[in-house]
Amino acid sequence: MIQAVIFDIDNTLYDYDAAHAVAFQALTEYAQHTLGVDPETFEALHQRANQLLQARTGGDCAAIHNRLLRYQILLEELGQPILHAPVMERLYWNTLIDAAVPSPGALVCLEQLRQAGLRLGVGTDMTADWQYAKLERLNLLPLLDFVVTSEEVTQEKPGARFFQLCREKAGCPASACVFVGDNRSKDVEGAKRAGMRPVWYRPHSGPDAPLLVDGVLEVRRLDSLSDYLLSLLGANHEKEDVS
Ligand SMILES: [Mg+2]
Repeated sequence: MIQAVIFDIDNTLYDYDAAHAVAFQALTEYAQHTLGVDPETFEALHQRANQLLQARTGGDCAAIHNRLLRYQILLEELGQPILHAPVMERLYWNTLIDAAVPSPGALVCLEQLRQAGLRLGVGTDMTADWQYAKLERLNLLPLLDFVVTSEEVTQEKPGARFFQLCREKAGCPASACVFVGDNRSKDVEGAKRAGMRPVWYRPHSGPDAPLLVDGVLEVRRLDSLSDYLLSLLGANHEKEDVS
């Protein structure tokens, strides 16, 4: 019996790729006008800063997503004042958050599942501060019971400790937890190894109707997921009524 549903945030509850494109463009223009760096050089510097941040932090922690550190390193490499780092960080995230809209059916999905009495949470790789800002912007925070970030766990998905904390906060056995995400290795395989029920969110190439393939439920829309889960719960209730 399903008791909790846990969602990835980026590219699951909203389209990160689309919002990132807008934010990165704003950053590229800032670099050009304020730092005098052309877009191609900025892209290369950005990649180099990412690599250095990964190497310095060890890679398996939320700090690899920390854009303040990333822009600080970029500016250090460029030999420009670090006073630009917090400005760039705020420019990136505020632009991205302004551009973010919930995935089709996300709001309905969470509302329906909540009404059905399920516990709802998010399980996300990232620092907590900006993930909360995204959830507030998307109007999803009031519908959630708990949040797990890789910052709190000090481990990224698909790590076992990450999914263990998700299960603890869900307050039920792993087999009663559904985990929904777009990333096959991080979300789907991670949840599977933890004994949860994985759902692969595939908005661009998934099947029209929810489809169960080798124990993994594939969905194209989040409201079709809630319909499917509610029908499972309904079927279970009917079984209980009969017995
Ligand atoms: Mg994702």
